[in-house]
Amino acid sequence: MAWDFETEPEFEEKLEWMRQLLVEEIYPLEGLPPEIQRDRDKIDEITAPLKEQVKTQGLWATHLPPELGGLGFGQVKLGLMNEILGKSSFAPRIFGVNAPDTGNAELLAVGATDEQKEKWMQPLLDGKIRSAFSMTEPDTAGSDPKLLKTNAVRDGDEWVINGRKWFTSNGSVADILISMVVTNPDVHPYQGSSMFVVPTDAAGLNIVRDVPVMSHPDHQTGEPGGHSEVVYDNVRIPHANLVGGDAGVGQGFVLAQKRLGPGRIHHAMRWLGQSRRAFDMMCERAVSRYTHGSYLAEKQMIQDWVAESEAEMRAARLLTLQAAWHMDKHGASASRMEIAIIKWWGAKVLYNVIDRAIQVHGALGFSTDLPLESMYRAARAARIYDGPDEVHKVTVARKILKGYDAVEVPSEHYTRKQAAAQEKFAEYLDLATANL
Ligand SMILES: Cc1cc2nc3c(=O)[nH]c(=O)nc-3n(C[C@H](O)[C@H](O)[C@H](O)COP(=O)(O)OP(=O)(O)OC[C@H]3O[C@@H](n4cnc5c(N)ncnc54)[C@H](O)[C@@H]3O)c2cc1C
Repeated sequence: MAWDFETEPEFEEKLEWMRQLLVEEIYPLEGLPPEIQRDRDKIDEITAPLKEQVKTQGLWATHLPPELGGLGFGQVKLGLMNEILGKSSFAPRIFGVNAPDTGNAELLAVGATDEQKEKWMQPLLDGKIRSAFSMTEPDTAGSDPKLLKTNAVRDGDEWVINGRKWFTSNGSVADILISMVVTNPDVHPYQGSSMFVVPTDAAGLNIVRDVPVMSHPDHQTGEPGGHSEVVYDNVRIPHANLVGGDAGVGQGFVLAQKRLGPGRIHHAMRWLGQSRRAFDMMCERAVSRYTHGSYLAEKQMIQDWVAESEAEMRAARLLTLQAAWHMDKHGASASRMEIAIIKWWGAKVLYNVIDRAIQVHGALGFSTDLPLESMYRAARAARIYDGPDEVHKVTVARKILKGYDAVEVPSEHYTRKQAAAQEKFAEYLDLATANL
């Protein structure tokens, strides 16, 4: 009987070290002027000593199993770590687990040839190169990647890629893009798509712009965290760049699933930290702000928000850690339902809690004097990226509904129960009738 909600003491010590590092060293980075915060090289320079500390603690790039070059922490430990790292947008990079590099390293770890791993995965893990994942297109529905149009045609020992992608996050600062393209339009997309490693300096690759978005409306192309629109105009790529080599032809969807599963759960883990940070702000304000004869904390409506938020966050945490445990035990493919549930539920909780925290702060919550408004804008995207809520709900509902058979009379209908009772308890019923 194994049913344990405790963290082992040695690992809890590591988590405590992380919490302290966040409060003492990482939160202050958020007070730097915006121009420094946006300057990735400057931030790398400032945070280099912190990265060294993280490495000394054995907490650097913990997302891969040991046989694939990582530390083998597994998803549960990673979940507990990401819950802390999610509190500040600076933290994942300082721990070598920032998206999209983590997902891309995982993809290369499971799908790339040894040569490709050495060339791209290891430098990614070492934080020496940056990457982006280039799948969504402006002209086809990203929620249904079977519709992708960007294609690669083989020409001798090369492939020629043509098409247009967008929302390639970090594309304009990346060294490589992992691009999902159609390599055989004559078969089902599940067998006709492949992934390529495309260096961003390849001839014909044009980063048109970073699309300004709700979370970063002032974003300038070339700053980190942008969502790039990318034109592939006869981009010639050696066959050696096809992820998985010969065996990788037609494997795009298999690889995408392997990448997106862990990526989604890592998002959900970080949302726990974001939600908790907003929640702490809400509670602090509730006990500090006096109005209409009492503190906000004493108003039942505010208490309702505090209680609802705590319950929602706990539910999200348990669902996330359970999904993580399921992945560790049964693998990502067998955990699609668990991952889908936490992807939309986690995004909803994040959004709800930040929204309530803003309301409790009134005008201050709406202002840029607090991080809540930017957290709110960023949280909105969580309901769209890595698959919109609706698609994940479809996955969940379909799987559940497969377990049910259509009936003419509902199973719980009184007449069916009566018949069952007659069959099972006939002697008592006969007795009851005889006594009338
Ligand atoms: C901040 C951010 C970062 C991103 N980063 C990346 C990245 O790095 N790489 C990358 O390739 N992509 C990235 N994306 C793109 C993202 O994956 C897509 O936006 C997402 O898959 C949805 O595709 P779409 O935008 O084309 O919406 P569409 O597919 O056009 O869907 C629009 C809406 O239709 C509804 N819908 C869709 N399907 C169904 C259904 N079955 N039932 C009911 N309603 C449905 C949903 O409400 C959905 O929001 C990012 C997006 C955002 C916002």
